[in-house]
Amino acid sequence: MSNNQLNRYENPSRSAYRSRTNIKQSPKQIVFPESPRTQQEAEGKASPSTTPSEDPQVAEASRELPRARVQGRSNSGFYRVNVKAAPAAKPEEENKFFGNCPRCEWKGYITFAAETQADVKLCACQADVCPQCGGEGGSIITLESGNRAWKTCDCRKLARRMELYRAAHIPSRFADKTLDAFAPNDDSQAKARAHFYKLYYDPTTGRSFKPGDTGVLLMGPPGVGKTHLMVGFLRNLILERGIACRFQDFGLLLSDMRDGYTRDIPEQHILQPLIDVDVLLLDDLGKGRNSKWELGIIDTLISCRYNAGRTTLITTNYTLDPETTLRERSRGRGNIDNEEFLSRDTLRDRVGDRIYSRLHEMCRFFFVRGEDYRQQVNKR
Ligand SMILES: [Zn+2]
Ligand SMILES: [Zn+2]
Repeated sequence: MSNNQLNRYENPSRSAYRSRTNIKQSPKQIVFPESPRTQQEAEGKASPSTTPSEDPQVAEASRELPRARVQGRSNSGFYRVNVKAAPAAKPEEENKFFGNCPRCEWKGYITFAAETQADVKLCACQADVCPQCGGEGGSIITLESGNRAWKTCDCRKLARRMELYRAAHIPSRFADKTLDAFAPNDDSQAKARAHFYKLYYDPTTGRSFKPGDTGVLLMGPPGVGKTHLMVGFLRNLILERGIACRFQDFGLLLSDMRDGYTRDIPEQHILQPLIDVDVLLLDDLGKGRNSKWELGIIDTLISCRYNAGRTTLITTNYTLDPETTLRERSRGRGNIDNEEFLSRDTLRDRVGDRIYSRLHEMCRFFFVRGEDYRQQVNKR
């Protein structure tokens, strides 16, 4: 498709965003998935300027597609508006090619809390048939050698990333947690967030995060936003960069494994995906009874990932010295059982010397405090 045709396509599409965003609708009410035509029909607001049919080629492509395919989410129907600029984009500008849609803030997707875990759907602004591939998902191109090959269309990228997001098993309550939405109320929180931004994309060096880069370990009391920060970083890696990530609550891992023994599921079945994934977020490390068995699981997980050079992100309520652990715990919010509350263990106590020193090699450590820290100090 020539630039001229692209530009001609772009204009009606832009006005489509505007007209659609004027429709008062809460995100929950978005009719999805549906083609824009059917959506307008449903809303009784059909307007000729909101369809791309002015471009004969696009109109033709839409006509040719059977309805089932137009509505088939996993196969087709989404695209970047300004396709030509996408490959050269800097990370922070990466998402601006979806047009100016306030619903998804340029991103083309919307995450939401599903029943068991966070899920993601395409924004309504992406519901048109891709003008580049006509919904086919790609096209046959002729290589320099003269051979013909299948070239996957850009529009499929987002579909793959959405699959990765679902496979990451992020809990529902973190569906809307982004780095931008994190409001630091303490220097330590601001520092941790700044580190994530820099790790994601460092404007001074132009370097972006790559799987295998040094991870992050956030320690501190419950309720200070450690997991929020981590998940915010994770969703950027998945949905903006297409990096495979996995969220794993450490306490849940232990109970899954206990459950696995009773149902004869081999340990490896549960651990291997956690060892293999490019980026693993291990939430609440050190939770549990600190038994030999639990230490063994930590050892397997961390050692295997260390040997494979994979990035690991960790949050823990344990800190580097017993006094801090106890003090930080005692003012922590959320559910703390007595056993944990009274523990003076350090992180080193909870994971053992060997793993502790590995963690230091694999991660950059940050201590995150809560908002009430200064108030506590002043009262003393
Ligand atoms: Zn949108
Ligand atoms: Zn396409």
